[in-house]
Amino acid sequence: MWIYLNDRFVKEKEAVVSVFDHGFLYGDGVYETIRSYGSRIFMRDQHLARLRRSADGIGLTIPISEDRWPTLLHETMTRNDVGNERHDAYLRITISRGAGDIGLDPALCPTPTVVIIAKPLHAPSPEQYRMGVKLIVARTRRNLPSALPPHIKATNFLNNILAKREAIAAGAFDSILLNWESHLTECTVSNLFFARAGRLCTPALACGLLDGITRNIVLNLAQEAQIPVDEGCFGVEAMYQADECFLTNTSMEVMPVTMVDGHPVGNGTPGILTQELHRLFIGNRIRFLEP
Ligand code: PLP
Repeated sequence: MWIYLNDRFVKEKEAVVSVFDHGFLYGDGVYETIRSYGSRIFMRDQHLARLRRSADGIGLTIPISEDRWPTLLHETMTRNDVGNERHDAYLRITISRGAGDIGLDPALCPTPTVVIIAKPLHAPSPEQYRMGVKLIVARTRRNLPSALPPHIKATNFLNNILAKREAIAAGAFDSILLNWESHLTECTVSNLFFARAGRLCTPALACGLLDGITRNIVLNLAQEAQIPVDEGCFGVEAMYQADECFLTNTSMEVMPVTMVDGHPVGNGTPGILTQELHRLFIGNRIRFLEP
């Protein structure tokens, strides 16, 4: 595997980062997870724009100019034989504060560390789409936005990892996190939707969640299909009463949820709106790929 590290491509074994890197010491960094369909990257500019916003949010200057990213991402795919007709690519960009003496002051780190990894995308199984997945509501609460703004996609991911551990312990696919007011937010790496009486509902960004790129696409597709949408604050009981539920993220697209906390969602099978939106997503995908 070839990894882009700072200013060059190195083999996986040589792709090592200092123990003084503040990404390692403090989780001081930002990242993006991107994918391709064949050779074309999905929502490339939107992912790069979110990376920039995350970096701005922690006062980190990305040491790569905007016009170099497309070439770098494609070279990382090509060197690893992904992003082609055989393998869709999973791309991960990580930018940490860089190596510096121990201490919290970012000025201790003169140069950010940049890593790009490309590997074959492991999409969920057809079985998962057919049967839907099980969720639990985690005891772990989503970070307060005033403590750690959720629009910063930070390498400090412990909030989500604690909720994921709960899901694993319960034998569930993932956890739903509630916020400080017991309102629904999102899952550990995906946004949450549910449907009630033909209306599509999703927690508003103000509830404290990542502004997901797939979430946005699904909201636009719903609008185009004239499906009524409610973005708002919802308690867990709204979830329990939902007819349908699904998750969105870049690698899952639209994943049906058929059980929450041991209770079936609706009739316990992927819902009609869920399947319709996934069909629309697939049918319109070409609009969201780079040229
Ligand atoms: N919420 C969280 C916490 C995430 O980490 C992610 C994706 O990584 C998402 C939502 C979904 O975002 P996107 O649709 O941009 O992949």
